[in-house]
Amino acid sequence: MTASIESTSADPRCPPNTPFSFELYPPKTEAAETALHGTIDTLAAAGPDFISVTYGASGSSRTSSLDVLRYIRRHTGVDPMAHLTCVGSSHAEASSLIREFLDAGVRSFLALRGDPPEGLSEGDSFLGDLHSAGELVQLIHRVQAERVPYQETPIPGLPRARAVKTEREHVRIAVAAFPNGHPRSRSTAQDIDTLLAKQAAGANLAITQLFFHADHYLSFIQRAREAGVEFPILPGIMPVTSPGRLRRILELSGEELPSDLAIQLEVEPTVEGQREIGIIHAATLAARLVAGGAPGVHLYAFNQHATVLAVLERAGILSAADTRRTHSTRPTGGSAAGSHPTKDK
Ligand code: FAD
Repeated sequence: MTASIESTSADPRCPPNTPFSFELYPPKTEAAETALHGTIDTLAAAGPDFISVTYGASGSSRTSSLDVLRYIRRHTGVDPMAHLTCVGSSHAEASSLIREFLDAGVRSFLALRGDPPEGLSEGDSFLGDLHSAGELVQLIHRVQAERVPYQETPIPGLPRARAVKTEREHVRIAVAAFPNGHPRSRSTAQDIDTLLAKQAAGANLAITQLFFHADHYLSFIQRAREAGVEFPILPGIMPVTSPGRLRRILELSGEELPSDLAIQLEVEPTVEGQREIGIIHAATLAARLVAGGAPGVHLYAFNQHATVLAVLERAGILSAADTRRTHSTRPTGGSAAGSHPTKDK
């Protein structure tokens, strides 16, 4: 159980109606799946804009990702967002995968290039027919357009004429953005150009890789806007609640060590104290980002609800009463396993 967190008047706060969303990864065991359902129920009760579900390297989580997305769709009122990657698929396979997700009722996607599966490196051929997130964005739009059923409807006053339905359902297609640069990118300009290419391909939202300082995001947004990127760019925030987790995250994401947070975590002797440090750090970051113009916050939840809800409460987005209400929806545990900041391994 999370205790409500005492706030001080010095804490920066977000407006209570700030939009928020969560990222989860597919479970690997039956027990983890059961726990995850409880976590989803609790997170959904907080009223997120969407819950995204990661996709494993080489499609290793195809079925389990889809199962989680189906659970969100059937059991909550929250929009499920499917991560999809270009790894290992032919054009036909990627199209049929997208169709399968659309048939399951998914209308929000995070289109990614994906990283090399374990044992392979960037130089190896691991991608299949699609080579960039932009190409995947285009393909999602194409598949969605093709599956719009042909429909004729009567036109009032013209008994023999029929209107042909052509309008498409809106799909939300998000892409990844890297405030501190993608590890493969040669320059900041290349990162912005990549984002512009994704916009041209039809993306309508971006979610960032985790970062630790508000200035990194805010200066990136300024450069992106000056270059012509128009879609909202949601900051991805990861509450880091132990020195071990911080080390692991930095290893996987390639981000620089945030020395202030690292020192605070190292000198704090208790697990509960370290957790509190991580929550305050993430909440302060969220408040600074929103004050600087971020359109909301996207929280990496590591398949647990307590920490991310505590961050939202501390940041002023949820009240203590909101948090208590979400906890009373269903008793939950939540899997403790968490590996990658942005994808399941
Ligand atoms: P792209 O936009 O296609 O390219 C990535 C970057 O590589 C570009 O910014 C560009 O600077 C550089 N680049 C591209 N082409 C070239 C080139 N020819 N030469 C040099 N540089 C180049 N991965 C998963 O497998 N599953 C997930 O569920 C998942 N979820 C994620 C969620 C978020 C929010 C983020 C930020 C990342 C996630 N990832 C996930 C990781 C992602 O797949 C990797 O970061 C991948 O390396 C890049 O994906 P992209 O979609 O940004 O690729």
